[in-house]
Amino acid sequence: MLFSELPLANPLQRAVRAVGYETPTPIQERSIPSLLEGRDLLGIAQTGTGKTAAFALPILQRLLDSGKFRAPKTCRALILLPTRELAIQVEECFRQYAQFTAISTACIFGGVNDASQKRNLVRGVDVLVATPGRLLDLIGQKAVSLKALEFFVLDEADRMLDMGFIHDIRKVVALLPQVRQNLFFSATMPDDITKLAATILRPDPVRVEVAPQSTPIERIHQELYRIDKRRKGALLKELLLAHPEMKKVLVFSRTKHGADKITRVLEKAGVKCAAIHGNKSQNRRQEALGNFKSEKIRVLVATDIAARGIDVDDVSHVFNYDLPDVPETFVHRIGRTARAGKDGIAISFCSPDEEQDLRAIEKLTRIRIPEGDQAIYDKLPPPQKETAESMMRNSRGRMNRSEAQARAEKSREKQTQKPAQNPAQKPDQKPVHEKTAHKFSHDKKRLEKQLREGGAGVQPAGGMPQGGKPHGEQTNNSQNDNARRRHRRNRPGSRARRRMRENGGAV
Ligand code: AMP
Repeated sequence: MLFSELPLANPLQRAVRAVGYETPTPIQERSIPSLLEGRDLLGIAQTGTGKTAAFALPILQRLLDSGKFRAPKTCRALILLPTRELAIQVEECFRQYAQFTAISTACIFGGVNDASQKRNLVRGVDVLVATPGRLLDLIGQKAVSLKALEFFVLDEADRMLDMGFIHDIRKVVALLPQVRQNLFFSATMPDDITKLAATILRPDPVRVEVAPQSTPIERIHQELYRIDKRRKGALLKELLLAHPEMKKVLVFSRTKHGADKITRVLEKAGVKCAAIHGNKSQNRRQEALGNFKSEKIRVLVATDIAARGIDVDDVSHVFNYDLPDVPETFVHRIGRTARAGKDGIAISFCSPDEEQDLRAIEKLTRIRIPEGDQAIYDKLPPPQKETAESMMRNSRGRMNRSEAQARAEKSREKQTQKPAQNPAQKPDQKPVHEKTAHKFSHDKKRLEKQLREGGAGVQPAGGMPQGGKPHGEQTNNSQNDNARRRHRRNRPGSRARRRMRENGGAV
């Protein structure tokens, strides 16, 4: 089938030709005719399948056909997406497909000032692409209303739920008019997604499933490297240096901190790279993405949430620097390569503590990932021994509470058995756990709790005050901290003051 055979108006046919599409992808071929008839649709498809055009083209066609006009501060079609990158991309697609029509589009997302977004809504828009939080915010400010909505698309539904948007989605759905056409897309269909779909779609929607659920694209060549955590950076660097054909490389890191660390290692080795994650400003993320698309940088390091919005053609290699906890995420990640009919390579690093994650991934995908070129290990520095500190550092962001407690317990036992374990540690020096607590502020609360609970030989008498210094170790800083705390405690209306008043004590 060709696009020209689909009943799309001339301006849309022209736009499709302008973006270079000739034949519809399977999801487009199966969705577009039913959507043009006005039916609801449940699409089980990953990004890279062409699903944006599958819903955008029929919505544009029906907007053209309806003969209605946009009213001020309303939208006629709403596309809800989990991330700002995705929202920007989908709006860009709509704009391209609508370039020869008078249909207007707007995009709203959080993390930036809302003034220009509100301005764009004053006259009303035909197609509004939004993330849930900012949409509800602007509805609350009466900058936009959903009362005139005709089409509702919930895209990346599984990701929406993963990211905790369920309540926001319910709030948005409650504001929609009863009569509307609904489109619901998700890469996977676990029970909670099926239930959510049932609350949005009209009975008997068209169901289009383009790839078997949670199965990675067959065209992706995969390789596995078993490597300890501390040498992952060196392995990535060696692989990139040894393979100049790795031109457009996407590296997935489990944490933001990890992503920054990887870029530091690569920059040191002269590899042009950038990181995108939630701590980077929207401008920095867009700049990094732009440089990656235009191949000014060779490597883009991303966390899963940031990467969800990446739509870059021709990603040659995807690296799983850390394996994801959720096996479905692995499928999303490697689906970033081998898009639009092309081949791709996915390389995964697996440290000893990730073996379980690897088994879950292999079970889900029903693929045993073959080991990569073993000769590369000869180029790496020898493995280093794990210390309590490195264990703590390496496990940041993935250690659950019971594991943390077990490790802390074990470490405490060792310390009471061998108080002078580290010859460099002076008797009055703070023990390893306490030092780690200072060093890694994310772990601090958890560590403080462990110290409070177990403590013997670890916790200084009197517990660890808020500033992290044991009592009696008064420096200028800790004195200032204490003064600040006293001030806070005595503030009118403070919780401490209230509690004392309730207990009849003096303030
Ligand atoms: P999507 O799954 O919508 O994110 O699309 C993935 C990529 O495929 C995008 O870069 C689209 O521009 C491209 N694409 C979508 N439909 C077609 C088509 N029919 N022919 C060629 N490329 C397409």
